[in-house]
Amino acid sequence: MKGDFELLERDGLARICRLETGHGVVETPALLPVINPNRKLLGATEMRRLFGTQMVITNSYIISRTEGLRERAVREGVHGILGYDGPVMTDSGTFQTHVYSDVSVDPAGIVAFQKSIGSDVATVFDVFSEPDFTREKAAEAVATTSARAAKAASAGGGGSLIAATVQGGIYPDLREQAAREISSTGADYFSIGGVVPLMEGHRFGELADVIVASKKGLAPGRPVHLFGAGHPQMLPLAVLLGCDIFDSASYVKYAYDGRMMFPEGSFNLAEIRHSWCTCPVCTSATADELRGMEADERVLNLAKHNLYTLSSEIARIRQAIHDGSLWNLVESRARGDPQLFDAFARVLSHRRYLERFEPLSRKSGIGFVDSLTASRPDASRFAERAGAVRPGSGDKVAIITGERQYFTHFDSTSRAPDEDAASLTPLGIFPLALTETYPLSQSSYSASVRAAEKPGEYAARFGYSAVRTVEGKWRRNGRQQARESSADQARAVCEYQFGPGAARALLAGRMEYARSRNTGKLRGISSEGRQILFFRTEDGLFSLKFHGGEILHGALPPPAMRVVCLPDAVPFVSSGRSLFTRFVAEADDGILPGNECIVVDGNDTLLAVGRALLRREEMLSFGKGVAVDIREGRNSSLSSQQPEGMK
Ligand SMILES: [Zn+2]
Repeated sequence: MKGDFELLERDGLARICRLETGHGVVETPALLPVINPNRKLLGATEMRRLFGTQMVITNSYIISRTEGLRERAVREGVHGILGYDGPVMTDSGTFQTHVYSDVSVDPAGIVAFQKSIGSDVATVFDVFSEPDFTREKAAEAVATTSARAAKAASAGGGGSLIAATVQGGIYPDLREQAAREISSTGADYFSIGGVVPLMEGHRFGELADVIVASKKGLAPGRPVHLFGAGHPQMLPLAVLLGCDIFDSASYVKYAYDGRMMFPEGSFNLAEIRHSWCTCPVCTSATADELRGMEADERVLNLAKHNLYTLSSEIARIRQAIHDGSLWNLVESRARGDPQLFDAFARVLSHRRYLERFEPLSRKSGIGFVDSLTASRPDASRFAERAGAVRPGSGDKVAIITGERQYFTHFDSTSRAPDEDAASLTPLGIFPLALTETYPLSQSSYSASVRAAEKPGEYAARFGYSAVRTVEGKWRRNGRQQARESSADQARAVCEYQFGPGAARALLAGRMEYARSRNTGKLRGISSEGRQILFFRTEDGLFSLKFHGGEILHGALPPPAMRVVCLPDAVPFVSSGRSLFTRFVAEADDGILPGNECIVVDGNDTLLAVGRALLRREEMLSFGKGVAVDIREGRNSSLSSQQPEGMK
């Protein structure tokens, strides 16, 4: 259905989503090339063929002010004048007010015009808040913009989605307030506006602050468009912060100026002697040949090169979301540019907000370069949570050190009965039992990443009466390693993953621990003869079995770990089918995307256990898509409840 927006894959706040428009689906992150209706360099259909362009954007203000074009647009629609049957978004003229001050637009009229020419996304005419606006002036821009958005959204879009814009200058509280206001209007599509001067001034740190403040207030279940930020250098960071859609007029502006875009910045064609780009333009003409072309041909070729760069960067970002490595990509790009680096550091200052969306594990490990990497929200949260887990109940502690300490296992035969074991890792001192848990052994570390805490401080923190450090030995073959006991590993991982109360409840019965015959690694855990947990070797965390869910359900009072399902979906969820967002009534705010949860009905009867794909506010905001990937329902067939890891 038009306007449907569904999350398919995510990496923290970054997401791959599917937006349905009246002229087809747009998969985000997406870049919309700007097409000037009066000076078409490349057609939209050709862009789709060459660069995989899905949606384009053109300006309804220019169309409405150009004699002849206006009439044609009314007659043939905006798709007719662009010769394109895919999704088309229109802008309202707001940006023209930023460039030329004497622009007069009738706010209601320009939205009606966009609807009348069949735009798939019609933009409300808003007040561009410049970065140098005083607070009062920025607040005024927000008030006017929100009022117009409310009016346009309540009138409905017909065949068009209504795009409302967040303004508020560089004032984070105004941005957040503006975002809440336009979220409550019922608009279909959100934009973050007024950021072009920040882009042009390379004020990426302030831009990151503006995006974070806006995201805090925006309903998560709608697309977010960062207006005018279509430069490849900024794209990974903006996607990391949760922006889905971008537009670029710069691909053509740069082409007229003889500039070529690259992920690391732009270069002047005049200065290129050794062309390294492998796009079709650059492999069919040398830099000399490009310089020798007639102006029109050169501009066209440079515009194409710029669009190749942009589309390949979008593809690069999508792949990074897919494999959980977008932070790695953003960090590596940031280290090549001082302003981007400042923006990256600024992003890290928002870690409390960002870690709400961070999974406990990813498909990709982390490449730790220095302490800045270690302050990424996923890494710093690991250090905080794992650092709070006491290695055991002993009176003394042995701390294992060594060159490859994070892979080290410890020969437990040398330990006194009341001695616990911890490991000094580059990220801190943690229970030896957490060595296999993400990100410790899945990541790689430069020698400059070093834990700050000293063994003595660690021992004092947990009240150990004695501490000794032991040189660990690293052996490649895991089967020969003496390990932490299964019970200690299960307790430490449970405490880390679910919290101390859950760990106590889960591991209270007559326990059995199964290990893999091939690798020696922990696999299934049973309580009173029934399997409750399954250990995932890839990230060192547990999957919850139905009986484990029953134990947690009995031990933890609501709303802990619960997603509450609406009556209509009870039979489906109970039989093991996915829980879709539109059937979610409520959810625990503590559930992290990717982590385990239990699904109950309105009377808190346990229905199923599974893996949450979304956070609470996302489950309640998205109209479409899966909220919980159900692993086992109470009526799942008996065969699926067989203890798969117990062999
Ligand atoms: Zn090229």
